[in-house]
Amino acid sequence: MYDLSPPAIFAHESVMGHARYRQRLERVLSALTEPIAPTVYRDEDLPALINEQQILANRVPMGTLDEISDPALLFNTFRFDGRREKQQEWLKSESIKVGGHAANGLLGYGPFVWFPANLPEDEHRHDKVCRPCWRLHFQNGCIHRCHYCGVGGLLITMVNIEDYIENLSRLIAAHPWQETYLFEDDADVLCLEPELGCLGPLIEFFGTLEDRYLIIHTKSANVDWMLDLDHNGKTIIVWSIAAPTQSRALEPRTGTTQERIKAARKCQEAGYVVRYKFKPIIPVADWRQEASDTIRLLFEQTSPDVISLCCFMWMTVDEMRRRIDASLLDPEYVEAAESAADEVADTRAKPFPEWVRAEIYEHHLSEIRRWDPDVPVSLSTENWAMWQRLGPKLGFTAVNYVCGCGPNSTPWRRRLEANPFRIAKKCAVGRFELM
Ligand code: SF4
Repeated sequence: MYDLSPPAIFAHESVMGHARYRQRLERVLSALTEPIAPTVYRDEDLPALINEQQILANRVPMGTLDEISDPALLFNTFRFDGRREKQQEWLKSESIKVGGHAANGLLGYGPFVWFPANLPEDEHRHDKVCRPCWRLHFQNGCIHRCHYCGVGGLLITMVNIEDYIENLSRLIAAHPWQETYLFEDDADVLCLEPELGCLGPLIEFFGTLEDRYLIIHTKSANVDWMLDLDHNGKTIIVWSIAAPTQSRALEPRTGTTQERIKAARKCQEAGYVVRYKFKPIIPVADWRQEASDTIRLLFEQTSPDVISLCCFMWMTVDEMRRRIDASLLDPEYVEAAESAADEVADTRAKPFPEWVRAEIYEHHLSEIRRWDPDVPVSLSTENWAMWQRLGPKLGFTAVNYVCGCGPNSTPWRRRLEANPFRIAKKCAVGRFELM
């Protein structure tokens, strides 16, 4: 586990009242840099925790803070009781303005969330390409301090992995078209392990399945504890990889570039499938050379089955400047972003204009091809226009590409065989909490 000095620890009564869950909490507590006693709370205490103790006060983009510190830790349990909407209404009635996955985590709901990417109900379907699927959640919040990210301040983790696995097995059985399951994109689930003791059982559960895969997405190098697990080749680990300046100046508590690649090598040697996402690619001043060096390093040490690319995006140039020290960036690209405000007004792929993003992708692609002529390279969460522009060079269309965490990107698959937007069907799975 990471060295941590959280300002406070909160433990729901359901954690304290169950011997195995309490042991998980106690193991994490005993690994902290300084001992700290947990505050035990009940659901009824949440309004006071939020309004008076301000447990969500630092849920802002971390680069906007004068100083970034370790998050408070909150231990909770998932309730598989069908009361999510009722509990959310209650929280609203208490004038608590917290939504999304953070509200789910505080209330103990939202373990499995339907991601309707590019289906009619997806409001962004005309502006990004991604695949519909179920996504798995277990934590909300992170230790890594990435300046552009807003999930610091509080790390909520569940502890009842046994209940989770029991319900997950029913979800998987009901959705035979979904072959891979991304475990968490609101946290980095390696950070509290092995003390938390929840990720290991999940990896070993997937190890018992036929043709179903767990995908872990990480910037961490904390992998030694997982090398001897019975994963049976059913866990894929996707390293979000960044070149050295980005990884040190803007992602300060993640593994460095070299540490992430070394961790990937260890996992590959232990039989895990490893992948990389260059995501987000932040074009620092010397980004071309840094990207080339990083790509050389990763191919010298590992054999990824897929690489995906995604430029820094999802905000205006002003918001980018608020979160990131723009003096680190390529000045030509910052100027291009400044002058392209109108051009990128109707795409979420802002702030960099299409020609900048294409230039970045093309450089990464040509450097990857120097080392490996065959590894699939795809774009992650890019828009249709970029797919039309770069699809021929990548050798894929927006419909058939394989990627880091798509629901049918199984190990070593080179191309999707079925249309991912047609095969995805959300099914009812009895009485348990689905969203
Ligand atoms: S690793 Fe991911 S979740 Fe964690 S702070 Fe960085 S961007 Fe946010």
